[in-house]
Amino acid sequence: MAPQTGTFDIAIAGGGPAGSVAAILLARAGFSVAMATLPPHAPRFEGLSGRVAAILARHGLPLAGVGPAAQRHVSWGAFQGGQNSEHLADRSAFDTGLLEAARAEGVSLVYASVSSVRPDAGKIRLADGTCLSARLLFEARGRRAPRQSTEMQRTELAGPDTISVAGFVPPQAGDMETPRIEARPDGWLWSVPMDRDRLWLQAVGAADSLGQTGGKTAVAALWQTVMGETPMPRRPVVHAIVPRLAAPDLNPRCPRLGDAAVALDPLSGHGMFWAVSSALMAVPIARALLSGEAELARDFYRNRVAETFWRQARVGRDFYREAGLKTKFWQERAAWPDDVPAHAPDIRPHTAMRVVVQDGHLSRREVLITRDAPGGAAFAAGQEIVPLLRRLNGQPLPDAARFHSTVLPEAPPQAAQAIHQWLLSQGFTEGAQIPWDTANRETDPCNYNPAA
Ligand SMILES: Cc1cc2nc3c(=O)[nH]c(=O)nc-3n(C[C@H](O)[C@H](O)[C@H](O)COP(=O)(O)OP(=O)(O)OC[C@H]3O[C@@H](n4cnc5c(N)ncnc54)[C@H](O)[C@@H]3O)c2cc1C
Repeated sequence: MAPQTGTFDIAIAGGGPAGSVAAILLARAGFSVAMATLPPHAPRFEGLSGRVAAILARHGLPLAGVGPAAQRHVSWGAFQGGQNSEHLADRSAFDTGLLEAARAEGVSLVYASVSSVRPDAGKIRLADGTCLSARLLFEARGRRAPRQSTEMQRTELAGPDTISVAGFVPPQAGDMETPRIEARPDGWLWSVPMDRDRLWLQAVGAADSLGQTGGKTAVAALWQTVMGETPMPRRPVVHAIVPRLAAPDLNPRCPRLGDAAVALDPLSGHGMFWAVSSALMAVPIARALLSGEAELARDFYRNRVAETFWRQARVGRDFYREAGLKTKFWQERAAWPDDVPAHAPDIRPHTAMRVVVQDGHLSRREVLITRDAPGGAAFAAGQEIVPLLRRLNGQPLPDAARFHSTVLPEAPPQAAQAIHQWLLSQGFTEGAQIPWDTANRETDPCNYNPAA
């Protein structure tokens, strides 16, 4: 298709799940949107969590190439068994479905290579020299997005250098009929039977097992290190998969989405979730930036990005620890990024100021921080939580009926009951003194400490 030029409200570089979902939601919100991307080319299969499928369905977005949920067999050190289910996603079909949906929503979709993104000029330059101009740009070229400027790179953080090699292989005797994830001494593998004759096999190992040679020999060396004698795919697809906090700070002229902001270890199984949930931030961030509320956008972005990175990096570390293997591959990854627990064990409920999304717009609100909601919860069942709790005035949480009559008489009984239930789920106990104070104990909304 011939590249189109022109001036748009928004122009997006990269049309993976993050770019496409953002483009669709921005177009639905009334912005004129252009997106330039290379189409999917190499075969690629991934596990999509039920949560991602549910979010996409809720927003009326297509799930092309996504199969039914299948239980995954886990062989992880001492642990053997079935655990978690995932949907097999054919990424070419999935990405193409979202791109076509973007076009149907009115997004000007340009299949072209992006040669540069120039936030200060508001331009995305394409390989043929033409430009997309817009009031606001988004960078969503995934791991291929260029590193940020030197000034912004200061806070970039990356984990151990890791490589994935994947492709179709003939099934061997003993290959199971379900997806399988297995820890090996020098890496791990993920396999999914495609049909009677083909298995999608992904081997993950340390970049230093590529050896000194380049090209195919190096890839074969890594494959052999992880997989031993198992034959390598005839057309291996190679990806660098180092976990990276690429853009902790918002560029107000060009926010980043998905892997371009935070690229996670595929072992976390959270990459697609982050890609899609970061795309959900695009509309409120664009509204704030285009109406001069850059501070709100900056705090919101920084909080979400840092929280996702630290939480998922630590969850990934714990998966590596669980395997209990002591080789260099496992020890390096079991030690990164730090020793801080992934889930803080004893957060006392308290309030803090955070930037939240309300009716599609960003606003600064008091939120309730609990162990289950460490990022802060502002609303439950459509009601703002902290003002409600203030109405209790330090009294114990009453039962559901009294909660309705004394705290929330203006709400329908079901809504009051839903909020009461939510409070119980957060660790509040009926009749007991509420174990929190409403003094605003946190003033820094970013809660971000690279040295933590
Ligand atoms: C080997 C591997 C296995 C994974 N397994 C899983 C898994 O099982 N479950 C899971 O949830 N996540 C998994 N992930 C993570 C998941 O793939 C990513 O988190 C997700 O794809 C990020 O979406 P994105 O839109 O940010 O980036 P991408 O999907 O990378 O999309 C970026 C888009 O930008 C385009 N682009 C890049 N450069 C240019 C350019 N110069 N010009 C034009 N277009 C360009 C690309 O063509 C692509 O369409 C895996 C990742 C890898 C690498």
